[in-house]
Amino acid sequence: MTAFPYRKGVLHAEGVPLSAIADAVGTPTYVYSARALTERFREVTDAFEGHPHLLCYSVKANSNLAILRLFAGLGVGSGFDIVSGGELARVKQAGGDPSKTVFAGVGKTPDEMAQALDAGILLFNVESAEELEALDAVGRRLGKRAPFALRVNPDVDARTHRYISTGLKTSKFGVPFEEALALYARAKKLKGVKALGLDCHIGSQLTRTAPMRAAISKVAELYVALKARGHALEYLDVGGGLGITYSDETPPSPQEYARTVLAATESTGATLLLEPGRALVGNAGVLLTRVLYRKPTASRTFVVVDAGMNDLLRPALYEAHHALQPLVKRRGRAVEVDVVGPVCESTDVLARARPLVLPRQDDLYAFMSAGAYGMSMASTYNSRPRPAEVLVDGEAWRVVRERERVEDLWRGERA
Ligand SMILES: *Cc1c(COP(=O)(O)O)cnc(C)c1O
Repeated sequence: MTAFPYRKGVLHAEGVPLSAIADAVGTPTYVYSARALTERFREVTDAFEGHPHLLCYSVKANSNLAILRLFAGLGVGSGFDIVSGGELARVKQAGGDPSKTVFAGVGKTPDEMAQALDAGILLFNVESAEELEALDAVGRRLGKRAPFALRVNPDVDARTHRYISTGLKTSKFGVPFEEALALYARAKKLKGVKALGLDCHIGSQLTRTAPMRAAISKVAELYVALKARGHALEYLDVGGGLGITYSDETPPSPQEYARTVLAATESTGATLLLEPGRALVGNAGVLLTRVLYRKPTASRTFVVVDAGMNDLLRPALYEAHHALQPLVKRRGRAVEVDVVGPVCESTDVLARARPLVLPRQDDLYAFMSAGAYGMSMASTYNSRPRPAEVLVDGEAWRVVRERERVEDLWRGERA
């Protein structure tokens, strides 16, 4: 059931009318549903019940401390997937457990590696031969063996938007499949690292099981081959990428996803690491915005709202679709409009050619499915302070990040 239902024509987050939040906090504002976050997490982890696994929430999808704290509290199987020292600091600050956290990314610095190793990270997902040597140096310097998994690139087309596809040969991510055996053999000679797993991640917003099955089966075979060569691996990290419904996509359910992953990895006996981001938070959040102006022109009708591409980058960055819903339903004939933000860029179009009952000034709307890669991608471009964030829980709600203030915009600058 959606966490954002209409009741008597008024859009709610759980038991709270969204217009009450907009009135109290202003717009633009991100609003998240604690119930939706919790239910989704449980749904995914329950789908893997009976099979050893850790659900490592991918922090970059939404890194608000309140969300990290909520996930950290959901039991022994809840870990994190991070891509920077900053995300590690967030996980620690939110009470997350570094020993259930995996560290990915093609450009980890030695400093970040040392911080993570000190914190007792579960494993590093290593993405190149030179990174492996750098990790070894850090491990030796700290007198530890840094646990790692090699991220291999299975060269499978994830059939998603090219900007969020990461598993092709031409991608900057992972090491070529063919080089993996040699790299694990090399690692055996190094005193500062210890092979603990194998990793892949083929892309985001995946809506079909076939590419997942193809990629994960390939990686599972490699896992078995590595074990046979005496590498004491324990973890098979299958990455994230499970898609969600933004408009009419029909991604696999968590249960279908689990069936696909479990079938592909059956032969390994490994503890599975899952790194969902979008699938846990995407449909648990919305972005509230207010209509500033209507602007009819000869070719189209623009509706100018107070949220822009700096607040929600996905439409401008990868032509993403976010449904738009009025906070108070109105009757009338729909016209086709372009909903645009105030930012001085032609790509600042949040919704293109949408049928909408022509709004009035000050009408409030919600961009739906904005919980993932929304606030975490927000910037202050055009010197626009970033939005507030609110977490709803039943009838209660609280601000979990204050709206940025103008003074924050030049913090650290010298005039
Ligand atoms: C971004 C990312 C994820 C999460 O991707 P989603 O599509 O949000 O599930 C998981 N693993 C890695 C390595 C990532 O970079």
